[in-house]
Amino acid sequence: MPEFDLHSHSTASDGTLAPRELVAQAAAAGISRLALSDHDTTQGLPEAAAAAAEHGLELIPAVEVSTQWRGHSVHVVGVHIDPDHEGLAAALRALRDTRTQRAERIAEALERGGFPNALEATRKLAGDGMITRTHFAQHIVQSGRAKTVKAVFERFLTPGKPGYVATCWPELADAVDWINRSGGQAILAHPQRYKLSATARRELAAHFKEAGGTGIEVVAGTGHAPDIKTNAELARRFGLLASAGSDFHSNEHCWLKLGRLPALPPDLIPIWARW
Ligand SMILES: [Zn+2]
Ligand SMILES: [Zn+2]
Repeated sequence: MPEFDLHSHSTASDGTLAPRELVAQAAAAGISRLALSDHDTTQGLPEAAAAAAEHGLELIPAVEVSTQWRGHSVHVVGVHIDPDHEGLAAALRALRDTRTQRAERIAEALERGGFPNALEATRKLAGDGMITRTHFAQHIVQSGRAKTVKAVFERFLTPGKPGYVATCWPELADAVDWINRSGGQAILAHPQRYKLSATARRELAAHFKEAGGTGIEVVAGTGHAPDIKTNAELARRFGLLASAGSDFHSNEHCWLKLGRLPALPPDLIPIWARW
């Protein structure tokens, strides 16, 4: 029985392991099929694919696209995408431009809030990868002004806080379309993480399905049993295939470790059943 993990991050976005380190660690943890799904970039895929060949692991080319739905930021994971598909590649380039502009505006806001040279320091932390809010948070933790990345998000980077800037992400339905056109399948990421009422969450899942979405992360991020139950109900109700992903970012992160995913409820059809 192959072990799947369809959601993970590397240093190409805001993960702490290089793609080859991530793949080596996944292989050691018993994962046989891994999707590298960095935020709005596929730049880590070639290195991950080379490492996967060495370790006898199947690398699934993927990306996690930042979108919006009714003003909420919603993530869509595209698996089995073609990273060279021109439509998708152009959309991701535009998204990375949006992220660069956002980083500059966050840095300005933080400088006004008493963090000098925030952009330079954060750029160093991001290395060759894109600058994300996680990197700003790491910088603030290192400066001693907060204890954890989570605390930084709460105090500085969320709406109403000094380092928050509103960002205009593409519409959810557009992202689903880019993924589908590139030959991939779209998965609604970590549905439990959006601050939505139960009704709005169902409307989101319905909209996602209608837009051409294929799957939903039933086991996602924390792997908490009540989340799995709620996500499984959405999968059943809207005829979405079930996916499982750790959303692994680093070994320090308190979420799921690689290769420790709880099983999907047995009545659901896993997205990989049709691969
Ligand atoms: Zn996400
Ligand atoms: Zn993610």
